Amino acid sequence: MPDKKFCVKVYGCQMNVYDADRVRTVLSSRGWQEVDESEADIVMITGCSVRAKAEQKVWSELGLYDASWKKSQRPLVALTGCIAQRIGENALKRFPYVRLVAGPRHIGLLPNAIEQIYEHPKSRLNLLDTDAREFHSLDFDSDNVTIKRENKFKAYITIAHGCDNFCTYCIVPYVRGRFVSRKPEEIFSEAEMLIKDGVKEITLLGQNVNSYGKDINLNFAWLLRQVAHMEGLKRVRFVTSLPQDFTEDIVDVMASEPTVCPSLNLPIQNGSDRILKLMNRKYTYAEYLEKIKLVRERVPGLGLTTDLIVGFPGETDEDFEASMNALREIKFDMVHSAAYSERDGTPAAKMEGALPMDLRLKRLMTLNELQDKITLEINQALTGKIFEVLVDGPAPKGENLLQGRTPSDKVVIFEGGKNLLGEFVNVKINSAEAWCLHGEILKTEVKN
Ligand code: SF4
Repeated sequence: MPDKKFCVKVYGCQMNVYDADRVRTVLSSRGWQEVDESEADIVMITGCSVRAKAEQKVWSELGLYDASWKKSQRPLVALTGCIAQRIGENALKRFPYVRLVAGPRHIGLLPNAIEQIYEHPKSRLNLLDTDAREFHSLDFDSDNVTIKRENKFKAYITIAHGCDNFCTYCIVPYVRGRFVSRKPEEIFSEAEMLIKDGVKEITLLGQNVNSYGKDINLNFAWLLRQVAHMEGLKRVRFVTSLPQDFTEDIVDVMASEPTVCPSLNLPIQNGSDRILKLMNRKYTYAEYLEKIKLVRERVPGLGLTTDLIVGFPGETDEDFEASMNALREIKFDMVHSAAYSERDGTPAAKMEGALPMDLRLKRLMTLNELQDKITLEINQALTGKIFEVLVDGPAPKGENLLQGRTPSDKVVIFEGGKNLLGEFVNVKINSAEAWCLHGEILKTEVKN
């Protein structure tokens, strides 16, 4: 079949992007052509169900195919990812063009399933029923396939799937299933493949990377060190960490391996011990502070970001003030903040003391105002400093402007030609905003 055309749309987190790239890679290697949505025989929609917003977006997106379906019986839709785990059954019933639903653990079954619905357009496949403990990985032959990805010089590698932590607000353990580590040899071979293809920076990815190996008698610090030593790789990052599992041996690797970047996302989620307990986060604010103290002492120039939820059920003014104080005391480089939103099926959705949405949003605004000032102060203090930056693409706006990241993961914008893409350059910071730094290249290539 020479003209099998597909399109992939991602509404979600980096895990969804990563999974979608693997499916795109395999379909392309089997002769499928990736095209614009308007020409596609099959549209694969994959999404995240952690936030209600993405779910609403996907519902309205699905409705948009109605007109073209009535006209041409095209496209067929495959709904995948953790969003499919939640809404897939209903979507199958509601839309005649939704022909395939599959959760995040069924990624390895997707290429064949997509070909099956293409060849038998009347068939409808529901892969959601397979065992939640079972994970179908999607691997490919490294000698013959180039992994598709958005950025030529930076890539993600998933090192584990699912999560066993059951934070009370979080849907992930229900939709992505229990924690499963990938085999180290799979991770190394994927990294080798990427390095061979020009990747300079790899981010190890998982819902809780620090738990890596607990089910296969290994540990994350070991894996991180192995990847850091891979020939040709210049930078390694990892995301996301969990405070109770972020242990000293990981800090040792960060402090001793030059390729491991001094950047850390360590979600605090709340500054109040009472709320942390209700969230089933298994650390106190004081314990969190200890971890921060240790990593800041051992890893100079650390860029520290966090995730924080405001308006959790029962959050009092005092609890909220504890989160504000955490921001003042810790001074994160950036905070990914969110107003609590109920996810059906989680324990928190049934808790008493739900706060009105306008109060949650008001608290969110107050918190963001404080953090914006802190971020700006931190960034302004970097004026005059010089950083080694990996040039990862043209800046989103402006002629002859490039962008890249410092080792601490700050975005820097500077003038330069496209010949510098993928190179490391020394950039002197001239000014700062809350979301990025502006600078100038001091001398071109530092290393490549
Ligand atoms: S650690 Fe908690 S918040 Fe993170 S994915 Fe697991 S259950 Fe969700």
